[in-house]
Amino acid sequence: MDDRDGHIWFDGEFLPWREAKVHVLTHTLHYGMGVFEGIRAYKTDRGAAVFRLAEHTRRLFNSAKILGMRLSHTPEQISDAILDCLRHNELQSAYIRPMAFYGSEGMGLHAHNLRVHTMVAAWEWGAYLGAENMEKGIRVKTSSFSRHHVNITMCRAKANGNYMNSMLALKEAEDCGYDEALLLDVDGFVCEGSGENFFMVRDGMLYTPELTSALEGITRDTVLNLAAEIGLPVRDKRITRDEVYTADECFFTGTAAEVTPIRELDGRVIGSGRRGPITERLQSMYFDQVEGRRESHPEWLSFVNEE
Ligand code: PMP
Repeated sequence: MDDRDGHIWFDGEFLPWREAKVHVLTHTLHYGMGVFEGIRAYKTDRGAAVFRLAEHTRRLFNSAKILGMRLSHTPEQISDAILDCLRHNELQSAYIRPMAFYGSEGMGLHAHNLRVHTMVAAWEWGAYLGAENMEKGIRVKTSSFSRHHVNITMCRAKANGNYMNSMLALKEAEDCGYDEALLLDVDGFVCEGSGENFFMVRDGMLYTPELTSALEGITRDTVLNLAAEIGLPVRDKRITRDEVYTADECFFTGTAAEVTPIRELDGRVIGSGRRGPITERLQSMYFDQVEGRRESHPEWLSFVNEE
């Protein structure tokens, strides 16, 4: 990752990719206290466009507020940096990673006097869970790791440290030959994937877990909007694992994962064992939306070369 051409925005200036480095005593590296975002830009007829830039920027600042971190830039400066990063690297489509983290001014758990640094990197990245799986669907394993309790690390924050839990769950699932993990909450109800929100279709109704300890996904919100547009009834409720086994269709949503069908959970085939018709409809609407082929929600696209 670190050895490539291009530029990374770091504290207000663009640095050559290989030179965007930090010290080994960087505080966030030691304790995981930092916040980040995952954003995508898509190629459209009007050039590259960042999808839901305002919402991602807002979530970055909300995550920082939850952790009590004071960012050194304004939301406008960060949004501009994201658009500049795509221009600078001449990217038509990209995954974009902004992150705010504490510097190396001190060690120990006290965070006063630490400088907050911010970076934005962008690179081309295809389907996160595999291109062929967008049609075939993925195989998922219920994790032996629970999602965080709401009073442990606070799940509304997209915080670096929260992802240790995600990585443990993903590794366990992969080691068992699955593609992704499904994490339950501390009460045993379905919560989310390691980096995705969860949806299920039963008898023509779309269900998604209450957000309690899941991240408030922007793709989740997009899919809820698309479902409303086609008159698909939606309920958020506590979901049990056996309801998932007997669902008609299931899928994950996320900026990286987009809309990824789930074909199996814990060795139980879901529905027909491939992408279901409602998943397919929402997935194709999603791609039409992010690639600028729909008329609704023009405010969701920030065109990189039109300002
Ligand atoms: N849950 C977790 C734990 C995630 O990391 C992500 C990815 N950001 C999501 C859900 C989906 O969120 P979004 O749709 O905003 O990418």
